[in-house]
Amino acid sequence: MSFNINDYKQIAGSNEIEEIKLVAGRLEGVRMHNVNSTPSGGGVAEILARLIPLLRGIGIDATWDVIRGSEDFYQVTKAFHNALHGEKINLTDSMFEIFEHYTNLNLDLFDKEADCYLIHDPQPVGLIRKRSVSPASKWIWRCHIDVSRPDESIWGFISEDIEKYDATVFTMPEFSRPIPVPQFLVTPSIDPLADKNKELNGKTVMQVAEKYDLNPERPIITQVSRFDRLKDPIGVIKSYKLVKKRMDCQLVLAGGGAQDDPESCGVLDEIREAAGDDPDIKILELPPFSDIEINALQRASAIILQKSVREGFGLTVTEALWKGVPVIGSAVGGIKAQVINGVTGYLIYSIEGCAHRIEELLRDPEKGKTMGRNGKELVRSRFLITRHLKNYLLLMLALLKTLNRDLFERQIFMLSA
Ligand code: UDP
Repeated sequence: MSFNINDYKQIAGSNEIEEIKLVAGRLEGVRMHNVNSTPSGGGVAEILARLIPLLRGIGIDATWDVIRGSEDFYQVTKAFHNALHGEKINLTDSMFEIFEHYTNLNLDLFDKEADCYLIHDPQPVGLIRKRSVSPASKWIWRCHIDVSRPDESIWGFISEDIEKYDATVFTMPEFSRPIPVPQFLVTPSIDPLADKNKELNGKTVMQVAEKYDLNPERPIITQVSRFDRLKDPIGVIKSYKLVKKRMDCQLVLAGGGAQDDPESCGVLDEIREAAGDDPDIKILELPPFSDIEINALQRASAIILQKSVREGFGLTVTEALWKGVPVIGSAVGGIKAQVINGVTGYLIYSIEGCAHRIEELLRDPEKGKTMGRNGKELVRSRFLITRHLKNYLLLMLALLKTLNRDLFERQIFMLSA
């Protein structure tokens, strides 16, 4: 499958598209191979599903593969993920052994030849040990998570592999690390033409709301997220309950799982218990690729919440802002790059603060609409897939055609505006 870059002219502007074509012309036929740990569920899969066909549409031979694993491996990688995000986790020797076992298994299976490899997040980081499959190739480690305060034993463990890469990519300046590998800063993006984000007519939005027993005449507050403790769904319910004492509203917690996230069932039980028997709390377990439904739920909402305890970027915030919906989000990770306090939504620090801001926007819907309009323009200028595509093209150009690694040693380069 490939997409036509010209379809994005109207939204991103002709200049952006011409620049992309110019850089792509220098990279025609380049083989770029991406590897991550889940084919669906979560932001990385969401981005790859759109970027790969777009790269192919401009002449890059882009491919995408998912590493193999099973329950014990994903338990370990989820614990590592949480520990890298700064959570206190009890790490055992057997966890490191399991990680090594699956890394070796994936190394045995790995024979993909390419000019450039983009390896996403810690789960497949060890694939760099197979760089001999294409000796002249360049390897990039793309970190999507907040590693600003990592558990040092995990960071030390994966650093042995990270330091073998030719370059690394982080999302936010504060996520960058003191490592002897060039670091590039690239923010993620949404695709405005994807089912998840394209314009929907009012009828479709109504139909989805009614399907989930939501009353479109009453305010809807929504958080769309994997059922993950770091997304703080319980905190969302507590904030809603504070608001509900004083104002009418409905709460949607829409989520699902991901192949590499074994915690969602347990978290879902905790959410159900916290919600109790309130008929105005809708807990929606959505299957993968429920894109139109999520799009409609976001559009039907007066406010989108993203009350994460830790966050890489938070594509759900970008998706909401693009739809002109204000976002109330925790002041963590990439949410801070998107929620400009008082302009595109509100940054919050507590359950009470979240409730206070929800009430404020429910009392003044015009303010929410203005913030939503600001949010859409912020996304248009910074977080569209076309900008993301251009950043990756420039990075490949630097690595494959011009980069003298010594020049880039110990430096951080901001590719995203
Ligand atoms: N998402 C989804 N179904 C769900 C929950 C989330 O399609 O049940 C999507 C959501 O719309 C967004 C992505 O998964 O595109 C989540 O990305 P984000 O960066 O917010 O968080 P992550 O899951 O990567 O931590």
